[in-house]
Parts: sequence; structure tokens; C-alpha cells
Amino acid sequence: MPSDPIEESRRAQLIEVTIDSLAEVGYVGTTLAQIAGRAGVSPGLVAHYFGDKDGLLDAAFRSLARRVSDQVRARLRELGTPRGRIQAIIDANLAPEEFDQRTGTAWLAFWGQVLQVKSLRRVQSVYQRRTLSNLNSALKKLVAGEEARSLAAMIAAMIDGVWLRAALSGWREADSASARALLTEFVDRRLHVGDGAGGGAGSGRGAEAKAVPDARAAGVRTAAPERIVSINPATGAVLGHVSVAGPVEVNAAVRAAQRGQAHWAAMPGAERARVLRRAAQILRSRNRELAELESRDTGKPIQETLVVDVISGAECFEYFASLAQSMSGEHIDLGQQAFGYTRREPLGVVAGIGAWNYPLQIACWKAAPALACGNAMIFKPAELTPFSAVKLEEILLEAGLPAGTFQVVQGLAETGRLLTRHPDIRKVSLTGEVGTGKAVMSDAAPTLKSVTLELGGKSPLIVFEDAKLDNAVSGALLGNFYSSGQVCSNATRVFVHASIKAAFLERLVKRASTLRIGDPMDPQTQIGPLASEQHLHKVLGYIARGRAEGARVLIGGHRITEGALGLGFFVAPTVFDQCRDEMSIVREEIFGPVMSVLAFEDEREVIERANASEFGLAAGVFTSDLTRAHRVIAQLQAGTCWINHYNITPIELPFGGVKMSGLGRENGRAALEHYTQLKSVYVAMGDVEAPY
Ligand code: NDP
Repeated sequence: MPSDPIEESRRAQLIEVTIDSLAEVGYVGTTLAQIAGRAGVSPGLVAHYFGDKDGLLDAAFRSLARRVSDQVRARLRELGTPRGRIQAIIDANLAPEEFDQRTGTAWLAFWGQVLQVKSLRRVQSVYQRRTLSNLNSALKKLVAGEEARSLAAMIAAMIDGVWLRAALSGWREADSASARALLTEFVDRRLHVGDGAGGGAGSGRGAEAKAVPDARAAGVRTAAPERIVSINPATGAVLGHVSVAGPVEVNAAVRAAQRGQAHWAAMPGAERARVLRRAAQILRSRNRELAELESRDTGKPIQETLVVDVISGAECFEYFASLAQSMSGEHIDLGQQAFGYTRREPLGVVAGIGAWNYPLQIACWKAAPALACGNAMIFKPAELTPFSAVKLEEILLEAGLPAGTFQVVQGLAETGRLLTRHPDIRKVSLTGEVGTGKAVMSDAAPTLKSVTLELGGKSPLIVFEDAKLDNAVSGALLGNFYSSGQVCSNATRVFVHASIKAAFLERLVKRASTLRIGDPMDPQTQIGPLASEQHLHKVLGYIARGRAEGARVLIGGHRITEGALGLGFFVAPTVFDQCRDEMSIVREEIFGPVMSVLAFEDEREVIERANASEFGLAAGVFTSDLTRAHRVIAQLQAGTCWINHYNITPIELPFGGVKMSGLGRENGRAALEHYTQLKSVYVAMGDVEAPY
């Protein structure tokens, strides 16, 4: 084996040429001389690397098999649950790359020779054994040993079978998405029959769960026994559970959504607007009950949820109700013989996938524009906060939305994937992390769905020397500690002009030390717990790294363990001084109550440092010089900016990020672009002249 990188790359190139050749002229036609000719090298060089034809084909077959194995390994690393691991194996084996004409034909050429060529048989048998053993080890955690073995064999046979049939039909019988859907459905059915082998997703405390809204959306069958148990992050107590939607439930939801959407889209905009306005009224009338539910589920203080979460959702429905009524196309003058016009039409069935920090608000911010434009939406809340979206579904039905037009499906990432890969869903709007955004975008690609991605951030707040100091401190506090710091647009990099830094920090620490941390249901509480135990440890890990990297904790920096708060996931609001741009607490999104303060000397320098981030969600500037404010804002790489305030998000203003913080916009008129498609119509006014 060559160890030199140039040799390795030449070898890899010859293997690629061999795969091309197999795809074009088949096994028999592929010879050393032919490969040498195609690659523009001498047959001797090919022989030098591979010996003879068998050696070359053996290397090519290994390379194809290794690619699938690497994919399986990479996906297995990402997924912890046994069901997730089975899915990883299915997804890697039936990935779109394996359904590509070139690769698929090369695979077929090899399969045809396996019985005759010993070395190929060896590769094939290792590959097959590895697949079986991966499947078996995941299945053993879900079903009894013998059943696991036989189910593993069935899944492996189905993977090969569905692929082979697709290949033999010239890729007409199935594509990657439908093949994976078939296998997924098969596995789910097998795991959900019999002795409840699907295994709970719960923490073992599910028996204590009291009745909570379940995922049973209009017309959706929730046969899957797999459950998610939701915990109150302030106390660690079980709040309730929801059933996970698998392929059967998701397919049923899509069918129900298609029926609902046809009815909904046929209504005049004014009628749709009335339904959306009624939904807003119901949201407002149930503000306290919904705010309490949200506070229990997320841990956010009731003083926040009572004034923000539900109200912002209601405002969003009101805003988009008025747009539903006033949506219009364009008239285009094309001279005396013709004119044109455009129609803004709905996309059809769309999906929303939410994060856990503002569950109801996120559901409303996605549902309101989608529905206003005449779409149906299937929404998956984050597994940590599943309840309030179900209430929204109830409210929309009560307001008069046709059944199926807004449905909630519950689940983990796998349920999200079923939505993003579904061929009958035309768009996905995700709020989540950057990594999830990339996964969603790539899963949406085979069906060419459009995506709106509201992702993470590490936003800068710049406080110039002429800023009103108390306002700037208020902005920094709002931009770091609201919702215990779990806000995507938070200003976690606070750049303060060196001449005022000491005064700024003094006021900041004084005010931060008065923040009341406690039971989220207490109206006096300003800081609640983080959303989960896992997240608590992530945030504490960052605080430890900040210290280790040399930043100085001015206040906070620890978990709160006193009294009843010790049962929950509370972290004291933390301010780091003496930060440097390269520290991990300054570069990475922590998503907790952790502020980094950095000094700067001049405008050009601070703009450069503020922009030196892969993120670009938000930014803020505090200054009394309005010319400077606009000049600086114009140069900041961020989608959403504030001058002399922070984190205010009126529905009228589009919200979203640039760079790795996302694509597309929520709210404002801009959202209409993302939930409609334009139809252009040419209307002839005269006779048709044809040269024929
Ligand atoms: P995640 O990205 O972990 O999850 C978001 C949602 O996506 C969840 O419903 C999750 O399901 C689902 N999901 C995860 N993987 C996949 C996948 N491969 N395919 C489809 N769906 C998937 O984000 P968090 O819930 O942890 O939320 C925090 C993040 O959200 C932060 O980065 C924050 O900045 C960002 N955010 C951005 C906002 C914005 O508007 N820009 C606003 C609020 C938050 P499950 O929960 O079951 O894993």
C-alpha cells in the first residue's frame, strides 16, 4: 500500500476511473489497459499499484464497501438509542449516493461476480457480516436474542432486496427516500408489535406521569408505544409523556394535512384571516394557563411567559391574519397585445421543527405565516418541551381551522428526519442548532424542499464610550440573562470601550447580584433553571473552560444547589471579565446565563472583532451618536440588529440570521416569501402569430 499522499491520491483516482468504467462498460469490458487509457497513464503504472485486473477490481469494490461502512460508523457515533442506530444503518446503506446511476451500476457489476471471484466474495462477506452484527447489537437492546438475530437478517435482506430491485428497474422502482421509508416502516411495525419491544424513551419514572396532552392530532394514528417523558427542570419531577410519531404516524399526518390544506387554501384570504384572528383571541384569553404550562415545561419564570411567550404568539397570528387578507400578486404591463400577472400560491404541506427555549412562540411564529399563505403545517416540538404546541393545535381547531391543517407530531430527531425527508412535504422551517440546520438542509435536498433555518448565534453588543451607561447595562442584562440565557440572539460577547469598562462592570455586577433566582412559578423569580440536566452540564463545562482559559468570574460561575433549587438545573448568572477573542466562551454558543465582557479601543477594531465569528444572528450598538450607530450597524454581519436596545422582536420586523446563523426570515412581510411560490401568467390580448 502506498503511504505517500501523492501515490494514495493517484491510486484513489484510478479506483474512481474503474468505477466509471464498470458503470459504462461492465465487468468484462473493464481491463487494465482500458483503465490506463481512460486515466491517461501507462498500463504498467496500473499494474504497479494493483497487480492485475482482479487486484484492481478488488480495490474498487473495497472502496465502495468502505464508503458505506464509514457512513454507518459516522452515523452510529451520532445516535445513542438502539432504534436510532438501526436507522443509521438503513440510512447509510440506502443513502442517495448509493442510488446514483454510476455507483449503483458499479455495485451491480460486482454483485454479479461475487460467486466467481474469491477476493470479491471475501469483501462481500465481511461487509455482510458487519451489517448483520451492527443490526444485531442494536436489536438485542430492544427484543430477545433469537428474535434480534432473525430480525437483523430480515432487515439486511430487505436492504439488499430493495436496493437490488431499484437498481434492476433502472432506479424507477424506488429512490433513496422511498427505500428508506419502506425499511423504516417495516422496522417500526416489527418493533411495535408483540411484547412492547419498542422500549420507552422515558426515564423509568413514567409511571408517575399525570395525564397531559398527547400527540394525537386530527386523523393521526399514534400506535407507536415509544414515549418521551418530560421533566420539570425546576424540580426534576416528571411532568408527563407523549408518544413518539414514527413513519406510520407521519405518513398519516401528511395525508390528513393534504386533505385539510385543499379545503383551507380554497378559502378566501378574508376567511382565513378570521380564523387566525380567532386563534389569537383564544391564545390571549388562555394566556395564564398557557404561560403556566410553558413555565413548568421550560423552567422559564412565569413573569416572562405571562408577558412574552403567549402574547408574542397571539401578535403573530394577528399580524399574519391581516396579511392573509391583503396578500396580492403583481400586474405587469406587456404592451397592447398582452399583460402578465403573478399569483402568490401556497406551497402545500410544510413542516415546522422547534427548539426548546420558546416552544409556543416558535410554533406560532411558524404556523401563523404558513397558515396565512394557505399551507398546512405539521409541527414537531423539541422533545424536551412537547406540550404547548399541542394546545396550539386545539386552539386552531376551535378557531375554525379545517382538521389536519395544523398538526403536532412528537418525537426525537428521527421524527424530524421523517418530516424533512418526506416527499410530500414542500418546505421545512427549523429553529435549532447549526449542526441540525445542516442535517435538515441536506435531508431536504433530495426532494428539493425549501428551508428556513433559524440557528444559533454568538452575537456582539457594542457599548461605545458615549452610551447611556444604565441603558447599556440594561441591554447587556436583557441580552444575557432573560430566559436564563437560553435565547438564540443573546449578546454573549459584550464589547465595552476601554475608557468606560470599569464603570460599566461595576453597575453590571451590582445589578446582576440582585437578580432573583428561584421557582419559576413565583412571580418574583427572574431567573429559572436551564432546560435539562444535560444542558446544565454543558453550560457548567463552558464555565470551567472559561476559568481554565484565564477569564475571571466577576459574579456567578456555579450551579445553585441550596434547598429545593438543588433538585433543579439552576446556574447563577455569570459574568466573565478579562476575556480574549480566541477563548471558547467567546467563540462558541453556550446558550446559558454566561456573559463575556471584552474591552476595545476604536470603532474599526471593534467592528472587525465583532464580525470575526462564524455566526451572524444578531448585534447591538449602544451610543448617543446616531450617525455612528447607523454606520456601525451597516458594517456588522448580522441579520437582526438593535440600536440602543437589545432582544426586542416585534412581529412586524423580519427576524433571522446570516452566515452560519441561518437562512430565510421569520416574521414581517419577508416571511410570506418563504411560505408561497409565485406563478407567472401571460395573458394574450390578440391573435397568435406563428411562423408555421
Ligand atoms: P436542536 O438543533 O438540538 O433541536 C431543534 C429541533 O430539531 C428539535 O425539535 C430536535 O428534536 C430537532 N432535530 C434534531 N436533529 C434533527 C434532524 N437531524 N432532523 C430533523 N430534526 C432534528 O436545538 P435545541 O432544541 O437544542 O435548541 C437550541 C438551539 O436552537 C440553539 O443553538 C439556539 O441558538 C437555537 N435557536 C435559534 C433560534 C433562532 O430563531 N435563530 C431561536 C431559538 C433557538 P429533539 O429535540 O427531539 O432532538
